[in-house]
Amino acid sequence: MKKVNKIYINGEFVTPHGTETFDLINPSTNIKIGEVTLGDEKDTQDAIAAAKEAFKAFSQSSVSERIAYLEKLKDAVEKREQDFIDVMIEEYGGTYQFSTLSNQNTGGWFDSIIETLKHFEFEKNINSSIVRLQPVGVVGIITPWNASNSSICSKVATAIAAGCTVVIKPSEMSSLQTQVLMEAFHDAGLPKGIINFVIGLGNVVGTELTNNRNVAKISFTGSTAVGKMIIKNGSDTMKRVTLELGGKSPNIILEDADLEKAIPMAVYGAYMNSGQACIAPTRLLVPEHKIDQVNAIAKSVAEKVIVGFPENQETHIGPMVSIKQFERVQNYIKLGLEEGATLLAGGVGKPEGLEAGNFVKATIFTNVRNDMRIAQEEIFGPVLSIIPYKTEEDAIEIANDSPYGLAAYISSEDKEHALRVASRIDAGRVCINGFSHDPMLPFGGFKQSGIGREFGVYGLGAYLEAKAILK
Ligand code: NAD
Repeated sequence: MKKVNKIYINGEFVTPHGTETFDLINPSTNIKIGEVTLGDEKDTQDAIAAAKEAFKAFSQSSVSERIAYLEKLKDAVEKREQDFIDVMIEEYGGTYQFSTLSNQNTGGWFDSIIETLKHFEFEKNINSSIVRLQPVGVVGIITPWNASNSSICSKVATAIAAGCTVVIKPSEMSSLQTQVLMEAFHDAGLPKGIINFVIGLGNVVGTELTNNRNVAKISFTGSTAVGKMIIKNGSDTMKRVTLELGGKSPNIILEDADLEKAIPMAVYGAYMNSGQACIAPTRLLVPEHKIDQVNAIAKSVAEKVIVGFPENQETHIGPMVSIKQFERVQNYIKLGLEEGATLLAGGVGKPEGLEAGNFVKATIFTNVRNDMRIAQEEIFGPVLSIIPYKTEEDAIEIANDSPYGLAAYISSEDKEHALRVASRIDAGRVCINGFSHDPMLPFGGFKQSGIGREFGVYGLGAYLEAKAILK
């Protein structure tokens, strides 16, 4: 049985003041694998005080000092790559394929912000005055369970680049992953108080971070519902916020797309991270007259998708993170049937032989209407909705008819055609013919998918305040 009974404040591993415990459950077996002692409000206040004290010196650090710290952090996390992969599979049920890919990119968060920092202008002259960008202050970082290490590393890297100090509250369900990360960051040897961790519940540690007047900004990744609470709770102290929230991303297959390429990519894409991905293309928009052909390809792909134990290298879909998440996905599959969508693959219940864990069948609904709840709401599981459209105008309207606007995907054999459609889509990221990623580009959502942008110059700017100095 693993025990996570320390948090990290002011450069030291300390026993939390909080005494409540939380069970860590392996989602493949539902067997308890560990126990975590949760921090409380006092722990959070202590961490904020340490970050506030450290900010005094760190906010005055030079760019080259911060680059040196970022390089140390990168080296420290890269040394623990295999530990991150192992623990992500065990604690979260992340597939070997996803966990490996995700953790291979971890060092990249530091590289891209170092590159950004090298060319970033912290000071400009406008007329005869100076405009200086200065670090915003102590940042509260609150992250979800579905990509814990990469969320934390990308946010920490940007905060450090800006000269901010941080208090990190990861998901309590990611505590084994957090343990490895705390150790790695400690080994990086930054001055004490710059990076602090408090493991705890959202309504305890998260609320304290959001309410506390000594925290200048919250950088949050998680659900839209909690994002709204953070804005409300943070308004009394006028918190700066960057909110990376949910998604229901459209994947538009244009008339001139090659279906044999585009549809398999669409199905595997919808199942990325076992369907527990904010950017997953979960609404597949296809020309109505091609629906039979699309259905045939999609069904045959779904039949080849391997749902199984996450440690197996061939597995595409591992278990849902928790029983609660499993039940949520099951309820949406039942809802799809009630709403009159046609079940093309998968369905309710667990795949044969996987009854002990939180496994969901690779599910596809077709003949889905965009006003159905399965097309409007984020399911966060391996459930794809195929939505037929009549004309391209119709497709653009359906794509934008969503409370979300995180990502969108377009398939076409004609790049110019895809670019024309991309210019009319309301989403923070539009990928053409694939799922490419570039950490220098801004990332974030339109509408209820969030506020602000992360990564690169846009992300860095969000950790800085502009100050005009008139001489
Ligand atoms: P969640 O919103 O339930 O929790 C996220 C974090 O917020 C956790 O650490 C949680 O403890 C904390 N929290 C809960 N209540 C809080 C409160 N009142 N105040 C402050 N913090 C609180 O999300 P989840 O279930 O852990 O993760 C899944 C969600 O995250 C999905 O909606 C997904 O789309 C979203 N997500 C978005 C992105 C993105 O970049 N846009 C990336 C990954 C996940």
